[in-house]
Amino acid sequence: MSPIGVFGGTFDPIHYGHLRTAFEMLQALRFDEVRFMPCGDPPHRGETFADAKLRYEMVRVATEHQAGFTVDDRELRRSGPSYSMDTLTTLREEFPERPLCLILGMDAFLNLTTWHRWEEIIDVAHIVVAHRPGWRAPDIGPLGELIAEHGTHRVDDLHETRQGRIHIHAVTQLEISSTEIRDLVAVGRDPRFLMPDEVRDVIARSRCYGVLEERPLSVK
Ligand code: ATP
Repeated sequence: MSPIGVFGGTFDPIHYGHLRTAFEMLQALRFDEVRFMPCGDPPHRGETFADAKLRYEMVRVATEHQAGFTVDDRELRRSGPSYSMDTLTTLREEFPERPLCLILGMDAFLNLTTWHRWEEIIDVAHIVVAHRPGWRAPDIGPLGELIAEHGTHRVDDLHETRQGRIHIHAVTQLEISSTEIRDLVAVGRDPRFLMPDEVRDVIARSRCYGVLEERPLSVK
């Protein structure tokens, strides 16, 4: 059975860096589905800027026209910190036979050892790491050891087993971050073309990062 990619994030807001990464994974790794999983209460950072409902809405409008992209709101419905290990455990119960692939950017992977029950993640899912500019895969320390033990270059390994492998996959590098987008809006500049227009519309309507004019987007 084809793997399900699980792409967690605060998505505050979602942008083309996230979407292109997910799309390339969907195609190159032959995933059945990439499930976007907006984080309710991110354990590693303070309050989000947009609330959970808006972040969910932005992910929904950004993904609704792509076959294979789905949004899962289980972390938003759960109270307390959103631990990936808890999320993956509930997914594993729901899909006992399916390969599950946790998708992480390299920056997120490099922080893995600070995550709740991080060593158990590989027992319930594969980990797929998207290469981001300026980040190198570790070859020493606990993560270096994890890669040495579980690393694979074979995409088929992600299909033939349900969990337990780490695959590092280069994606087109789009150096966009949610922080940059929030900062742009905060100083009155337009983040158009860093994200789908539907996401920009939610930002403009809600003013969640500052005032963004709802100006007509097309020249008639
Ligand atoms: P922020 O700037 O608020 O920290 P972010 O842009 O890094 O946000 P997150 O929602 O924190 O976005 O990221 C979710 C996941 O997407 C993480 O695994 C992160 O590594 C990955 N990611 C973020 N931006 C990119 C990008 N431009 N290209 C590829 N992966 C990305």
